[in-house]
Amino acid sequence: MGMPTLEKQIKDYVLTKCHQEKVGIASIDRYNSAPKGMHPTDFLPGCQSVIMFCTRLPDGAINAALRTYENRKFNVHGQYGLFGYVGAPNYNLLWASYRLARFVEQVTGEICMPMTAGPTHGAPMLSLRHSAVAAGLGQFGWHSIVLTPEFGPRNRFGGVLTTLKLKPDPMMDGKRLCDYEKCHICEKVCPTGAIPPYKVGQERIVDFGEGHEERYSGINWTKCKIACEGCYADFNYNGDYDLMDPIMEAPIDEEFSPTQHFRVKRENVYHNFIQHQTSWKCGNCLQYCPVGNWKERFHDTKVSSVNINQYIDNYPDVDMDTYDGEEDDRWLTRSR
Ligand code: SF4
Ligand code: SF4
Repeated sequence: MGMPTLEKQIKDYVLTKCHQEKVGIASIDRYNSAPKGMHPTDFLPGCQSVIMFCTRLPDGAINAALRTYENRKFNVHGQYGLFGYVGAPNYNLLWASYRLARFVEQVTGEICMPMTAGPTHGAPMLSLRHSAVAAGLGQFGWHSIVLTPEFGPRNRFGGVLTTLKLKPDPMMDGKRLCDYEKCHICEKVCPTGAIPPYKVGQERIVDFGEGHEERYSGINWTKCKIACEGCYADFNYNGDYDLMDPIMEAPIDEEFSPTQHFRVKRENVYHNFIQHQTSWKCGNCLQYCPVGNWKERFHDTKVSSVNINQYIDNYPDVDMDTYDGEEDDRWLTRSR
């Protein structure tokens, strides 16, 4: 048996020593349509490849968020923030990119620049989501989170820029993971209407070259921010706004109602835990997306009692018609 290729050595290192679930390599030409100042060579002159990897979010962390929304157990939402959104996954990615950069520099003598991961450590230099797609790890979902076949949107990405020229992995072509013409789940479970319904010609289109295009929605980040922060008593610190009382009756525009499940009293401070700030208390679009075996992991196990089937038009990968549990749609009653 011959010596494994450098690509294989790097991937084995990422999977075994850096404890990541997936790894892929993007070539520099896949960034040709990157916005000005956001190209890998803007950060590492001579960059030839981007090594990207993925940390799976534990189902138990997703469960913590589901308990918040389905059972109003606000005191566990911090577990989602810490282990599912900004805390541990980002430290895991941070450590992995640091360790991998040192390894590749040591073995090859080339320059490797580790990337920051996620909001715990400030804004990433490059778009980690676009880089994950460029490295063949996944595809965009309509909610603009990158989906992997294994975990859906319930993963996070990190990476390393390098001057080393590596053989890239193919991008994920073929069947779309997100059938946004039939599936309306993320659009419907979003409490503030931040995710618009699919309309031909209104989607965002990114050209990765090699005939590979990705499409996703133009999220209204202000509305998302309101769900994640503004609907909480601690945002309404001085009581200047009517966001909380009465809950969602006339918050900012009528599209926002009814968002009853964002009723959080100020005494529910447990969700802060050791997060960097009291943010990102929503995440419904990530929690209820069917891609990544949601049905098997969260529905069949009765971790979630919400019937998401009603928001799918014959979605081929999700057959929830056999659902026999007690349905609970209390928090997902948003209408347009
Ligand atoms: S919830 Fe449905 S439409 Fe939204 S990203 Fe997931 S599969 Fe696509
Ligand atoms: S995190 Fe919540 S508010 Fe933001 S887009 Fe997703 S579902 Fe909507």
